[in-house]
Amino acid sequence: MQWKSQVHNLKAYQPGKTMEDVKDEFNLEKVVKLASNENPYGCSPKVQSFIASAALSHAIYPDGYAKQLRMNVARHLSVEPQQLLFGNGSDEVIQMISRALLDRTKSTVMAAPTFPQYKHNAIVEGAEVREVPLDNEGRHQLGKMLDCIDETTAVVWLCSPNNPTGEYIHKDELLDFLNRVPSGVLVVLDEAYYEYVTADDYYDSIELLQIYPQLLVTRTFSKAYGLAGFRIGYGVGSIDVISKLEPIREPFNNNSLAQGAASAALDDQSFIKECRELNRNGLQKFYEFCENNGLKYLKSQANFILIEFGVSGDEVFQYLMSKGYIVRSGEALGYPQSVRITVGSPEQNEELISLMKEFLALARQY
Ligand SMILES: *Cc1c(COP(=O)(O)O)cnc(C)c1O
Repeated sequence: MQWKSQVHNLKAYQPGKTMEDVKDEFNLEKVVKLASNENPYGCSPKVQSFIASAALSHAIYPDGYAKQLRMNVARHLSVEPQQLLFGNGSDEVIQMISRALLDRTKSTVMAAPTFPQYKHNAIVEGAEVREVPLDNEGRHQLGKMLDCIDETTAVVWLCSPNNPTGEYIHKDELLDFLNRVPSGVLVVLDEAYYEYVTADDYYDSIELLQIYPQLLVTRTFSKAYGLAGFRIGYGVGSIDVISKLEPIREPFNNNSLAQGAASAALDDQSFIKECRELNRNGLQKFYEFCENNGLKYLKSQANFILIEFGVSGDEVFQYLMSKGYIVRSGEALGYPQSVRITVGSPEQNEELISLMKEFLALARQY
């Protein structure tokens, strides 16, 4: 068969062990997963009551335009409904952008390490990938990213707060970048963790869209809204940009139940506020743990933290998993001596921190 040549080197996404797998393997009663930055508090009770009462006809195709959800998100962000593009998760928005703009004649610029789907989709389309290392604080080097742009460059990917470092792009740097980037380059700003940000100098990216029509912001219902299983994410951009992307979208990519659940979740901003505050307190506990134990870490604006242990992240991961806590080894994330931990509930954080102390005590005996 005549596969695209780049398809031969692609690897399928490797799902982590399920909680059931880990229970069986280590003979545990309870397993906690703090590996994928899901919301430990679930989602708003409004979603639960919507689902209980949803009298949807499952034989009918969903509203492909997601009109109701579109209206609700447009009102929430104070943008026009035509400025929104809904995806089956923001993963699909990334895929649509790549399909529409990238091919063998194009290049695309991104940080490294960052969210892997930008690179993955660029490779599928055959585009040249130009990666610019993060600095030692885990932050984008926007000046160097600018230097990588030439006439072949179609898309630049920015991730703020960045996964897996949790660091954010500062406002002056972002504005400077947007002022200097050539106007024919689409700048994607992935804000999957936007709802968790508490930094005083964080920008209003939606406002920036009015000044920079080449900017496209992506957000998701998977993280703070607690709807990862429903798969709803979206892009917000200028009407021009969105109208070019909209024909790329599969006609019925967002299912009916998910659309309703997302609307119900959006309607409960006090849940989001509460989660943001609880997350902040949780991060503080992890910072204290790191400081008391001499571990390097990065300050996070997201709901996860990258902690450096000075040994292989796999080792830490294995130990914690054997005790019922699934985290993410940094080996696969570009930080081989670290683990990335999703901030859990107060009880989960406390338990995990005491397991990490146990690990350190054992590791330091040698
Ligand atoms: C989790 C995540 C996404 C994907 O979210 P979905 O909407 O669930 O597809 C996108 N970008 C970043 C940076 C993420 O961490």
